[in-house]
Amino acid sequence: MSVSEPTRDLARPITVESAWYAAPPTGSQSGDIAHVILTEEQINARIRELGAAITRDYWQAAQSGPLLAIITLRGAVAFAADLVRAIDLPVELDFISASSYGSHATTSGSVQILKDLDSDLNRRHALIIEDIIDTGLTLSKLITMLDARQPSSMRVCALLDKNKPCPAREDPGRLAYTGFSIPDAFVVGYGLDYNQRYRNLPYIGVLKPEVYAADAEG
Ligand code: IMP
Repeated sequence: MSVSEPTRDLARPITVESAWYAAPPTGSQSGDIAHVILTEEQINARIRELGAAITRDYWQAAQSGPLLAIITLRGAVAFAADLVRAIDLPVELDFISASSYGSHATTSGSVQILKDLDSDLNRRHALIIEDIIDTGLTLSKLITMLDARQPSSMRVCALLDKNKPCPAREDPGRLAYTGFSIPDAFVVGYGLDYNQRYRNLPYIGVLKPEVYAADAEG
């Protein structure tokens, strides 16, 4: 059974506008956040749309077996936990860890696989669940590596996209589902970290530059 063409109307990213920016709600970590770019409510509403699109597109393919959700550690865990519950189909979960970032807020240019999948991908319909696409380097490397295992299909669902030129984006059948297109700023929250912090914020916000400037000095 094949996967249907991506449901374009639901899967096309929503562009985050600066007019939406809001002050962070009161909380112990909010002093480090310059502004919120996506609230918990906006994220949840978008995930319901992505889940509906994926359910529709994989309905037929799921007749031959569960969809394999490949969750990228650690950033995509919060997103994936909510997304898989918005997909009304049998889904199996597996995890992979690839790293292209050190402890700094810029890309290092190299990618390392830290934890591989436990599942056999051969003849499976797989969906990579990614937190954010910045340069697209991590994703391109993952796709090349996993394609060699000959899945029946492999698409990507990313919550955020910084919209830089990237091979995965040139193939709309590949980066089939994107939550939001965001400005090129370093964001944290809802799974995304800076130095392993802020992952548990329920919203996505821009970190105040002085937070990482202090680290650069120290
Ligand atoms: P890429 O290879 O440049 O696309 O980077 C992808 C990975 O870098 C993501 O999976 C994140 O873990 C991390 N990353 C990229 N941009 C950000 C950001 O703004 N905040 C937090 N992590 C980020």
